[in-house]
Amino acid sequence: MNWLHHAIAQIEADYQRSADTHLIALPLPGFARHGIDLYLKDESTHPTGSLKHRLARSLFLYSLCNGWLHEGSTVVESSSGSTAVSEAYFARLLGLPFIAVMPKSTSAEKIAQITFYGGRCHLVDSASAVYDEARALATQTGGHYMDQFTYAERATDWRSNNNIAQSMFSQMARERFPVPRWIVVGAGTGGTSATIGRYVRYQRHATQVCVPDPVGSVFGAYYRSGDASLTGPGSRIEGIGRPRVEASFIRTLVDRMIDVADVDSVAAMHILTDLLGRKVGPSTGTNFVGMLALACEMRHKGERGSILSLLCDSGERYLGSYFDPVWALNHIGDSGAAQARLREQLT
Ligand SMILES: *Cc1c(COP(=O)(O)O)cnc(C)c1O
Repeated sequence: MNWLHHAIAQIEADYQRSADTHLIALPLPGFARHGIDLYLKDESTHPTGSLKHRLARSLFLYSLCNGWLHEGSTVVESSSGSTAVSEAYFARLLGLPFIAVMPKSTSAEKIAQITFYGGRCHLVDSASAVYDEARALATQTGGHYMDQFTYAERATDWRSNNNIAQSMFSQMARERFPVPRWIVVGAGTGGTSATIGRYVRYQRHATQVCVPDPVGSVFGAYYRSGDASLTGPGSRIEGIGRPRVEASFIRTLVDRMIDVADVDSVAAMHILTDLLGRKVGPSTGTNFVGMLALACEMRHKGERGSILSLLCDSGERYLGSYFDPVWALNHIGDSGAAQARLREQLT
């Protein structure tokens, strides 16, 4: 009991020392004059640099309170990188060994951060190979497989308890449209969309949840068909879009999905980087494509209101990939035409 109580107390004390993330107003005259306001919740300012800081805290607390973690347990996770960075931080806080199982395409910056926090990186050939490898490593080490793709939706307390949705709504209190018309979030585990979807229903808000889904992900097809056995190649936008239907993605909590081309995500990442004066990651670009589609639709219909989304992580993590012109051209394609088209929507 002693170790467990101490571990939970450590996480709670770390939380007590932490600040909430900012909600950034994104002034876009082309929409504002039609009564449409856009906002981004800046999740890049967590100590480990992404929205996965919240998830990692929730997963550790959930595992501890379920009796799944003990003194000396090796923690193993399958990840596209961001969750592993955040879990490595919490594993170090508790003095537990940590192994991240990730596709070999994972950005060098994320690998460096996991190593910095004392974690070990175990790289596999493809995104769909991470699950079995992580499970096997947990068995071999007598450790615990965190399994974010199963547990994200249930580890986070959705009624309140400082979840991301509650924070967004309280930060909107003094805006001209305090209850958002739309909240736009990409899905990796699906945990964020589930938390927000449940919260808006529970609070009886008129807000709807839109998930923009990158090409190659199965979430969009699953949303339309309900077939949980679907598989696909997986996405080229780090952090979102999956090669299989993850248990944590709850279809009934999503009001709308939008398919997003990779060149559009990268184009939107660059446009947002210009608008904010600092680099954002590619999944934030995908979010921005979704926001712009909804804002254009509202403008066309003469609807007024606010649209919220997330700045999921900083572009500094992707200097060698999405922000490198040669890499981007080879892996994603030329996003010049997409940039021109999206910039046109802003005016
Ligand atoms: C995980 C992640 C998302 C999606 O969040 P989920 O709650 O897992 O659906 C979006 N962007 C980045 C960078 C992420 O790491």
